[in-house]
Amino acid sequence: MNRRLVFWIPVALRLMLLLAGAGIVWYFFGPIVALAAIVGAMLVMLATQLHYLFQLSDWLDNPSSAKLPDGWGAWTGIFSRLYKLRRDDEKNQAELTEWLARFRQAMRLLPDGVAIMDDVLFLEWCNPAAERHLGLDLERDKGMRVTNLVRTPAFIDYIVLGRYEQPLTLSLRERKLIVQIIPFESRRQILVTHDATESERVEMMRRDFIANASHELRTPLTVINGFLEIAFNQPSLELQTRMSHLKLMIEQGQRMQNLVEDMLTLTRLESVEYPLRPERVDIRTLMEQIQHEAMALSAGRHHISLEVDGPDIKGSTDELRSAFGNLASNAVRYTPEQGSIALAWRMKDNRPEFVVKDTGIGIRPEHISRLTERFYRVDKSRSRETQGTGLGLAIVKHVLLRHDATLSIDSEPDKGTTFTVKFPGKSVYAE
Ligand code: ADP
Repeated sequence: MNRRLVFWIPVALRLMLLLAGAGIVWYFFGPIVALAAIVGAMLVMLATQLHYLFQLSDWLDNPSSAKLPDGWGAWTGIFSRLYKLRRDDEKNQAELTEWLARFRQAMRLLPDGVAIMDDVLFLEWCNPAAERHLGLDLERDKGMRVTNLVRTPAFIDYIVLGRYEQPLTLSLRERKLIVQIIPFESRRQILVTHDATESERVEMMRRDFIANASHELRTPLTVINGFLEIAFNQPSLELQTRMSHLKLMIEQGQRMQNLVEDMLTLTRLESVEYPLRPERVDIRTLMEQIQHEAMALSAGRHHISLEVDGPDIKGSTDELRSAFGNLASNAVRYTPEQGSIALAWRMKDNRPEFVVKDTGIGIRPEHISRLTERFYRVDKSRSRETQGTGLGLAIVKHVLLRHDATLSIDSEPDKGTTFTVKFPGKSVYAE
């Protein structure tokens, strides 16, 4: 029904009722009493209106807590509509507050930095990542010009040139940041920062790895090519010389093969497509194999002992053979003749451990933290002479990582080195 009619019909009915009442009073008590009754009724109505008006004004002063009365006549509708409006408003407000809290939380957790600035780059707001990346403190720096807060020349140039369609790569506080300004609304700009330190480091490692691998392959290839050229240009070379050239070529070929195999092993260990499939590792058999291989490499030049006093574990036999084999072969390769090498498997503090102790050349302390880096060698020529690829300890590190095991290195130059691999207690194989 028409809203106007809904309002006016009850008013007209009430008026008609009043007039009808007044008519009846007139009929029985005369016009003076009727007039007095009408005036009285009008005064009561006026008082009622004033009462509700007062209640409304009181409610408007504090609309949230005070409750509106039910009202009378037209006031009933007015009050109920006002009440509904207020309720909807409170609901919207609650939704907005919740949404804002969620938005703030998301912004707080965002790994990328976001800062909102006005058109002249005064900081209005930023998230914790932006504070970290740019060294800002929202409470302290709010309202300051961003170019006064980040004073790196490259950043200032970026702002001055205003070529915001391209991001800027910035070295700031020992981190690599990718920064971009995005204009939004008519008088605001967003500054987005992304920390690319880690991806840059991975990229650098990849580049270094390729450069190192190419370099490692180039040397034996050059040697082999050189001898092949000699053989081609001098067909009448003496048999003895030819044989010595062939022997050197075989050695260099073997070196390349070792390198490629180690690189493939590393790639496989790093690949997520090859998850560890734990099986029972027969420790005694494995340790005896490691000892035999070490003895073969040593060819009687060292004394190699073995002690096995610990349980079997869960893990990959092949990977552990490769890791333990690398540690044992290093001990042989870096221990002068007549030295001793002790291989041991035992339980210590409820954790199984593999220990290789040699009486070799030792390692100076400054090298120890870098030994597991790919191609890191303390003495390049000694490593090459003994067929080292520089990847052995990198392989060890990856295998141990996949077994939740840790490696510790204890060494004294000219006295010897002890490599200890500690496995977690939970890796013990339970029958
Ligand atoms: P490499 O193939 O050169 O032996 P590794 O990654 O196995 O490469 O070892 C890295 C470097 O650590 C070696 O070049 C060597 O300088 C040092 N190293 C490893 N094991 C020993 C050891 N038992 N005694 C002395 N130095 C060692």
